[in-house]
Amino acid sequence: MKIIMLGAPGAGKGTQAKQIAAKYSIPHISTGDIFRANIKNGTELGKKAKSYMDQGLLVPDELTCDLVVDRISQADAVNGYVLDGFPRTIPQAEALTNALNARNEKIDYAINVEVPDSNIVNRMGGRRACLGCGATYHVEFNAPKKEGVCDACGAELVLRDDDKPETVQKRLNVYHDQTQPLIEYYSKAGAMVEVDGTQDIDVVFQDIIKILGE
Ligand code: ADP
Ligand code: AMP
Repeated sequence: MKIIMLGAPGAGKGTQAKQIAAKYSIPHISTGDIFRANIKNGTELGKKAKSYMDQGLLVPDELTCDLVVDRISQADAVNGYVLDGFPRTIPQAEALTNALNARNEKIDYAINVEVPDSNIVNRMGGRRACLGCGATYHVEFNAPKKEGVCDACGAELVLRDDDKPETVQKRLNVYHDQTQPLIEYYSKAGAMVEVDGTQDIDVVFQDIIKILGE
């Protein structure tokens, strides 16, 4: 099963993608996590990506597309994957479609996690991320057992630089300009499905299972 998560920053794509990956035994591939790992490791890619991410801008397509096409070609992705945060632009979607076409493959589901902008600022301000293992929490809606500490790996939780209020509005604007057109792109491809992302995390996941099947 090949799945794409669509939705505004903070809509809950990563939260749902992790659960989908676990239930259907497919890898969760998050471009944001890949960039953050590169930043942490001080790679050239990380240095370049950071300058865009800190401003709430998208990392250029030429730094992003090959990375994902390589990643989905790895052995663990042979039975499918859930892509989280990619594609984010029409050229990225076209690059993905071309790579899949070349192998007679296609995206089965593009899941749009629908959350209005008015909810997003609170979602992102309360998000706490683990830079150790990539787990995500929310101070109110999905709190870790011990404040500031990752349940999964024990590392310290942080407020991402790009989740600070001054950057959030910019990221929302970028989303509406560059990423929202993908809803029409994947509707035309016959892959588009929608869930109401304002519901509780578990309810959103149950709605996704109804679509994907048990
Ligand atoms: P995205 O990957 O779309 O940027 P995340 O999955 O990281 O978003 O979710 C953003 C924040 O909102 C996180 O702090 C997460 O714990 C929280 N969150 C995710 N889904 C829900 C939900 N259905 N209700 C309330 N909070 C949620
Ligand atoms: P995310 O973790 O998905 O919220 O992504 C964090 C940031 O990483 C985004 O705001 C972008 O700057 C960058 N990023 C992640 N995925 C992509 C992508 N597919 N294209 C361009 N930039 C991306």
